[in-house]
Amino acid sequence: MGRIIAITNQKGGVGKTTTAINLAASLAEANQKILLLDFDPQGNATSGFGIEIDDTENTIYNVLTEECSMDEAILVDVIDNLDLIPSDMNLAAADIEFVSQEDKNLILKNLLTPYKNKYDYIIIDCPPSLGTITVNALTAANSVIIPIQCEYYALEGLNQVLNTISIVQQGLNTDLVVEGIVFTMYDGRNKLSQQVVETVRENYNGNIYDTLIPRNVRLAEAPSHGLPITLYESSSTGADSYRKLAAEVMSKGDEIYG
Ligand code: ATP
Ligand code: MG
Repeated sequence: MGRIIAITNQKGGVGKTTTAINLAASLAEANQKILLLDFDPQGNATSGFGIEIDDTENTIYNVLTEECSMDEAILVDVIDNLDLIPSDMNLAAADIEFVSQEDKNLILKNLLTPYKNKYDYIIIDCPPSLGTITVNALTAANSVIIPIQCEYYALEGLNQVLNTISIVQQGLNTDLVVEGIVFTMYDGRNKLSQQVVETVRENYNGNIYDTLIPRNVRLAEAPSHGLPITLYESSSTGADSYRKLAAEVMSKGDEIYG
């Protein structure tokens, strides 16, 4: 049975999509069968694989509105071992359109559950908000990975996302676990980076990945070439760090799920 992992933080630009793409690609490289769901109207995980969406293509929005099936939206083998469900700006309307539905928070869970035995990991890239889309992701997920950018306001944002997670844990998804926190854009020469890591380690009891994702220009360049870091610059420190994170996710997951 596969695991559904939501990558979330309501703060913008902290490395959610970079982590979703490159963790997914690193797991795929390690022979894990991956479904990556782009669940953000910005569609950055889609364009990060070099996929351009026009009106003829199916996206997660078309699945939500029952214009197409999941199978019709899944792009198979975008890279080896990795399938992708794309997104585009239409998804922005989902927050409003589904608000009145009684089971609005369960829509994604119902869609993904039949796919859990087809994949080792289903990874969901969430938007920078804590609205209906993110709550759907947290309700569908087994676990959450929270990327934290090594900068000043990191702790403040962390409390907000942990709060939302605990609300979901009390009702919609009592089995949800925080899989871990991952530090992104870490710069060892910068005192602030080190302080953020120290402060979060002192204040947070749950799992924090040992792997620090460094600030690495190759990671920033890769999406404009439509490639994950493992294929764009396989020997970069960015690629190495996401491979290490993938190894931790695989081994820690065994601890969490037995
Ligand atoms: P949003 O909240 O808008 O969805 P996000 O949390 O998904 O943003 P990303 O898009 O992954 O964040 O990253 C924000 C910017 O920082 C991007 O331009 C990305 O290329 C860059 N970036 C992310 N991680 C790194 C890194 N480790 N090194 C260098 N640049 C990075
Ligand atoms: Mg993003």
